[in-house]
Formats: sequence, C-alpha cells, structure tokens
Amino acid sequence: MQVQKSFEQHQTGTLYLIPTPIGNLQDISQRALSALAEVDLIAAEDTRHTQQLLNHFEITTKQTSFHEHNWQHKIPELICILQDGQSIGQVSDAGMPSISDPGKELVAAAIEADIPVVPLPGPSAGIVALIASGLVPQPFYFHGFLSRKKNEQMAELAELKERRETVILYEAPHRLIFTLSNLVKVIGPDRSLVVARELTKRYEEFLRGAAGEILDWVQNHSVRGEFVIMIAGNSAPDVTESEEAVPVVEAVGKLVAQGLKPNAAIKQIARERQLERQSVYRAYHQLEEES
Ligand code: SAM
Repeated sequence: MQVQKSFEQHQTGTLYLIPTPIGNLQDISQRALSALAEVDLIAAEDTRHTQQLLNHFEITTKQTSFHEHNWQHKIPELICILQDGQSIGQVSDAGMPSISDPGKELVAAAIEADIPVVPLPGPSAGIVALIASGLVPQPFYFHGFLSRKKNEQMAELAELKERRETVILYEAPHRLIFTLSNLVKVIGPDRSLVVARELTKRYEEFLRGAAGEILDWVQNHSVRGEFVIMIAGNSAPDVTESEEAVPVVEAVGKLVAQGLKPNAAIKQIARERQLERQSVYRAYHQLEEES
C-alpha cells in the first residue's frame, strides 16, 4: 500500500498531469498556466503543437517529446529527472493526458518510483460532451476509440450494445461515417445517439436523435471536425437465460467461491444487475445467517 500526500515536502520532483484546451484556448485554467510556467520540464506529445500554446501564453519552459512511439525509452530518462528533484508537467495535444492519449505508463512508473503524481482538473472531450448530451450522465462507460478493423469494431459494438450505461466513444473525423454505419448495423437504427462535434470551437454542434437518422444526416451533410459519439444505455439488455436464472445470492456466492472477497462480489453483482449494493449485501448476509 502507498499513501501519497501530494502537497507535502518531497525528496523528489513531482509529476504534474496538465490538461490543455480541446479547442478554445480560454479553457486553460490559471493553475494549468502556473504549472506550465513553473515546472522544470514539459513532457509533450507534440512539442511543436504545445509550443504554440506556450507562445500564446508567453511561457518559456523547456520541452521534451513524450509520445506513443518513444515512451519506452523516455520513461527512465524522465524518472531520473524527477528523482533528481526536478518537476515535470506532462501534456498531450488536447484535453486530459492519459485519456486516449499518452501518459499512463509514465504515471505507473512514477508511482512505482514513489514520485508524487499530481493531476490538474480540466477539459476532456468525453465529459464535456456527456453533460450536454441529454443522455443519462451516470453511470457512463468511457470506451474511447473503437478498433479500426471492421470485424473487431463490429465485435466491440456487439458488446457495447448490451451495456446499460451511456457509452462514450471517440472517433477520428475521416472514420465517422464508417463507424456510424457499423453502429447502426450492430446496435440498430432506433437507439438514441448523440454526436458532439467541434466542442468548445466556433462550429460546435450536437446531433441528437435515433442512430439511423443521425447516420442519414451525416451522410447528407458535410460534417468535419472532431467527434464524440454517445450511445444511450440499453434499457433491456439481452441477458442469457443462465445469467437470468441465477439468483443474486447465488451469483455472489459463485464469485466468492472463485476467490473474490464477499464485499467485492456484492459490489460487482450489484453493479452488473443495477441493484442497490445494500440490498444485495442484506440478501447475501441474511442467507448466510440462516444457513
Ligand atoms: N485527451 C483527450 C481528451 O481528454 O478528451 C482526447 C484525445 S484523443 C487523441 C482525440 C479525440 O478526442 C478526437 O478524435 C475526438 O474524438 C475527441 N475530441 C477531442 N477534442 C474534441 C473536440 N473539440 N470536439 C469533439 N471531440 C473532440
């Protein structure tokens, strides 16, 4: 177990995770600007891209590149810098680092090396889109990008079809029609969908409707930009007969027999079946007491 007191004195430097705007530069926070100016080094997904942001805010901090093609050899170097007592701010091109962007391996390595990891709040396209979607905001399931390969994408969509939570997907501009077509084939034309486009930018737009309608609209209009696709949760998922037949208490018992702690098993079953955790807890323990 590890306890991180983020703002106590440390022997090492700190790794700051700094979100950047997803379109509108005014969305950068005062704290993010201070962090960018005060860290010893910025580890950026694309240093040229981040330089534009730094120039705009007249920040002169040195940068190094840190992206999906060099993270393996960059991490030891960055950890040494942190161990030397210098601080690093990690940024991606837009939004939250680590969210469908580079970062998670550096975070894991820093935690492993007992280096404090301090996240700054800020924009992330999925959450920004979700709150204005009009769909149920929680629970939600953030999936990010689907596979680019058609068969794999269809298989992923088949799984997502059954989820009761609102599903959040990211998609690249040139793949929107491809993905929406597959989505309509697998999930059907009637499921409610919201496509959020160009969030925080001048041409921000929300398409809300049935999946089939939205596909039609997108095919008949020239829609450019960046997209978040949100799928309304399935209110009547296909539960296999065997799953349905297993009473809650037995389902918890099965997980416990597989080695899960009772509370973890209760939590999992409550989540899967959308039940109150307390009622599953009571049912399970009552039955235990009776037997
Ligand atoms: N780290 C980012 C975040 O926290 O949202 C996501 C980076 S991911 C590489 C880029 C994808 O995020 C885009 O393809 C798009 O799906 C979504 N995205 C980013 N900015 C957006 C915007 N302004 N409007 C709509 N979607 C956006």
